[in-house]
Amino acid sequence: MSVVEVKTGVPYKIIIEHGVLDRAGELIRPLTKAIRAVIVSDANVAPLYGDRVRNSLEESGFEVSEFVFEAGEASKKLSVVEKMYHFFFEHDITRTDIVVALGGGVTGDMAGFAAATYLRGIDFVQIPTSLLAQVDSSVGGKTAVDMPFGKNLVGAFRQPRIVLIDPDTLNTLPEKFFRDGLGEVVKYGCIRSLALFERLEKENAADITDDIIYECVSIKRDVVEKDEFDTGERAILNFGHTLGHAIEKLGNYSGYTHGEAVAAGSAMITRISEKNGLTEKGTAERLEAVLLKYGLPVNSRFSDDEIAAATKGDKKSSGKSINFVLLKSIGECFLKKLTAEEFKELLDK
Ligand code: MG
Repeated sequence: MSVVEVKTGVPYKIIIEHGVLDRAGELIRPLTKAIRAVIVSDANVAPLYGDRVRNSLEESGFEVSEFVFEAGEASKKLSVVEKMYHFFFEHDITRTDIVVALGGGVTGDMAGFAAATYLRGIDFVQIPTSLLAQVDSSVGGKTAVDMPFGKNLVGAFRQPRIVLIDPDTLNTLPEKFFRDGLGEVVKYGCIRSLALFERLEKENAADITDDIIYECVSIKRDVVEKDEFDTGERAILNFGHTLGHAIEKLGNYSGYTHGEAVAAGSAMITRISEKNGLTEKGTAERLEAVLLKYGLPVNSRFSDDEIAAATKGDKKSSGKSINFVLLKSIGECFLKKLTAEEFKELLDK
């Protein structure tokens, strides 16, 4: 078992432990006066793990109900959150009760958003079951839903009371979604940890998942502690994301998973920055080799012009310029503000 402490406004622990699903109740009980707990989960994860978490919560004295929605990014919308609010109301959830998000990134983001807004905010807990959620989205307190005009455009900052990561849940994760998470794992190596990147090169990621999870959440913890509300340093977590979001959008959010789009975006931006002398020579090639090793794309089927045009609506943009995250070398990154025209120039060089 390893524990990572996050010292945000409301501090909390991230517990990485095999079998921790069965200890959810005992670990959550001391954190809350809640009488009721609502498990929020999707139709893929609920049948696999819902009962174990429910039993554990009931053994610790919680009255448990379960809200299950259709799996997939398409569910991450306000109309599903509204159904959740109705469900909370019908099950007498009060301000002191607790929401338990059990599932991948969609579940965590959406259940977190419902918890952040219902009755102006109730406590929630993250139990991430996908690699992407375990290494990235369950930590840091960003909650959101998608809008028809873009991903994650309506949301709130609200930190969970605890994050419980059971690496055993990865055993049931389809290969495609393991790869999806690896897109973000490679990102963490690129921006902050040459050591992690080298392990991804030399070893097989599936054999070292515990270490990968610990390393990624530790990096995210360090960044989030310094910039909880995303006004500065937290931007480095968006390496590969500006172009990645454009690629996801051009693929109508079904052509590429988030991790695949981030992989393609990070390879593309690194080729551009290396070509322009901003990144140490050989970095792009090394990054591409690792991405290809894990079956991740290093290119998209869209043209540079299409991608450049699609970056314009990015929510990371401020005013006229976009804050790009570039690598100095593997393990070291920096921010560079570029206008659309300046970006186009780099692209065309
Ligand atoms: Mg991401």
